[in-house]
Amino acid sequence: MIFPDNIAAQSGSDEGFAKLINDLKTKKWLMYAKRPFAGPEQVLEYLGRYTHRVAISNHRIVSIDDGRITFSYKDRNDDSKTKLMTLKADEFIRRFLLHILPQRFVKIRYFGFLFNRDRLKNIELIRKLTAAVAIFTEKVEETVQQIMLRITGVDITLCPHCGKGRMIPVVKIPRAG
Ligand SMILES: [Zn+2]
Repeated sequence: MIFPDNIAAQSGSDEGFAKLINDLKTKKWLMYAKRPFAGPEQVLEYLGRYTHRVAISNHRIVSIDDGRITFSYKDRNDDSKTKLMTLKADEFIRRFLLHILPQRFVKIRYFGFLFNRDRLKNIELIRKLTAAVAIFTEKVEETVQQIMLRITGVDITLCPHCGKGRMIPVVKIPRAG
């Protein structure tokens, strides 16, 4: 499996990218899937880390100072110890941008009956064939706090100062105009 990160990192330029894609097209690809050691939950957990996350969440950024960014990371070659790294802003931004997929690339590609183009038709057909009766319970809606926590791993109800206190809404500021 080749990850989009690698594609972006190897290419560097438009020509490089075009060449890389051409090289990849001539390759014969073989899909090999292995049974996960610790069951499907672990696989979901692993994928979830990538599919719904941004490249770096705010709480890992320790300081932004004088055009230099310091952030924490886990060094997998050193017992996964948490370490700090400082980069110039433009290098930090360059690395961050490597995580943005090229146009028309997607993080999750569906196949089988969920394949995007025929999904609606397929689901309709499956419902008909299985005579399924969907029971819609109450619509589940996430709060802003829950969405932020899920996507960025940051609990915005936590006091950014002490990290212990809970922040609660005190007053609603009316919309301007
Ligand atoms: Zn506090």
